[in-house]
Amino acid sequence: MFSRSFLFYKFPPSGGGMENIMNLILLGAPGAGKGTQAEVISKTLGIPQISTGNILREAVKNGTECGLKAKSFMDSGALVPDDVVIGILKDRIAEDDCKNGFILDGFPRTVPQAEALEAMGVRIDKVIEIDVPDEDIKNRIGGRRVCEKCGASYHVSFKPTKVEGICDSCGGNTVQRKDDAPETVIERLKTYHETTAPLVDFYKNLGKLTTVVGKPTVEATSELMLAAIKA
Ligand code: AMP
Repeated sequence: MFSRSFLFYKFPPSGGGMENIMNLILLGAPGAGKGTQAEVISKTLGIPQISTGNILREAVKNGTECGLKAKSFMDSGALVPDDVVIGILKDRIAEDDCKNGFILDGFPRTVPQAEALEAMGVRIDKVIEIDVPDEDIKNRIGGRRVCEKCGASYHVSFKPTKVEGICDSCGGNTVQRKDDAPETVIERLKTYHETTAPLVDFYKNLGKLTTVVGKPTVEATSELMLAAIKA
């Protein structure tokens, strides 16, 4: 349940300034809560959540050419090559539902990906980093579950499904991601610190970064995120 203050959180109506801050990026380690927070922001602001991880998992499931290229990288906790992911992102943000804004969840993950966004002329209004210590990430990620049908994310303690193992949104089965196995998580955290964390400075230098400390509950973090977007 969302706290009372979250439910009554007011955004300015259209024309009140929010139209200028609709293209958002969420940064943070795997398991920091980007997907969950992106879902909340997406519903609150009415803009789509674009998760390159979800798009790639769908491509792997469907056995597409791109999925075949991506699978071995994903299974080992490595990043998929920039050219593959940049191509996916470019096609996705060209879709009609992105014209009023979007939230990028899991992209960019390298400085060249961020530079590619700039080169495409995509205006980014705010970048919000969710900061969660590695030890907490390792504990949290063990409880993460995703819907194998629609990609919605859950957590057995922090965001459980109403019926165990069944997605609230589409009725699909919720499962643990293969790359959430403890040894793969260590590899993903290493990749994050080496390759993705430099984006914090990249966007700080552009004056676009706000860091939010990930709180123990989804609702408490959402309040901070929405306040950061509104600020
Ligand atoms: P996620 O669901 O965001 O944790 O992504 C799952 C996996 O998909 C990552 O560990 C990468 O292998 C791959 N992936 C997702 N987004 C990107 C990206 N922007 N660049 C490279 N690889 C990505």
